[in-house]
Amino acid sequence: METTFRGNELDGAVMTTRLDAVVNWARKNSLWPLPFGTACCAIEFMSVMASKYDLSRFGAEAMRFSPRQSDMMMVLGTVTNKMAPVLRTIYAQMAEPKWVLSVGVCASSGGMYRTYATLQGIDRVIPVDVYIPGCPPRPESMIYGVMKLQEKIEQESLSMRKDHIARFYESLDRQRELERGKDLTGHQAVHEMILEAAGRGAATIF
Ligand code: SF4
Repeated sequence: METTFRGNELDGAVMTTRLDAVVNWARKNSLWPLPFGTACCAIEFMSVMASKYDLSRFGAEAMRFSPRQSDMMMVLGTVTNKMAPVLRTIYAQMAEPKWVLSVGVCASSGGMYRTYATLQGIDRVIPVDVYIPGCPPRPESMIYGVMKLQEKIEQESLSMRKDHIARFYESLDRQRELERGKDLTGHQAVHEMILEAAGRGAATIF
């Protein structure tokens, strides 16, 4: 059967767009958060999910504690050096594409914990997409951070190669090599990599 459309018959019936735009629209409105909560920022996050602030208004209410079912990690609290390899493993296990929000000064810079035991910023060991300042950040700040991430996702392309994620996996291989080769624990290997990176003048290990 042959169908021919003439003149304005298609008006209002057809819409054209880019595949990137449709996929990004779906992705940014269906983020599944994984809360990596270690301290007080995690308590503030509870109110973000509760009825008053209600993150589900942004399509991000499907919180999961399984990394394989999440694509937006929210690091909420102080991360110690011993937790660094755990954070890296959980990040590696998350579904792709994946994004990270560093929530509060502790996650972003170690905060007031300028000590040998505290990781001085999670971006030393995993890629971060959005930093949310504050101690703790108010729920409005966390929501603003999610909105900034949505804006970032809008600009992404399906063909875009995420170099920083590829480099992260390479650094994970290096970590495993160190663990096996020198019989180190995860956090010892990560610590050694941080020192190596500092020696090169780099702020991150990936
Ligand atoms: S930034 Fe402040 S509120 Fe958040 S974990 Fe650190 S000390 Fe607690």
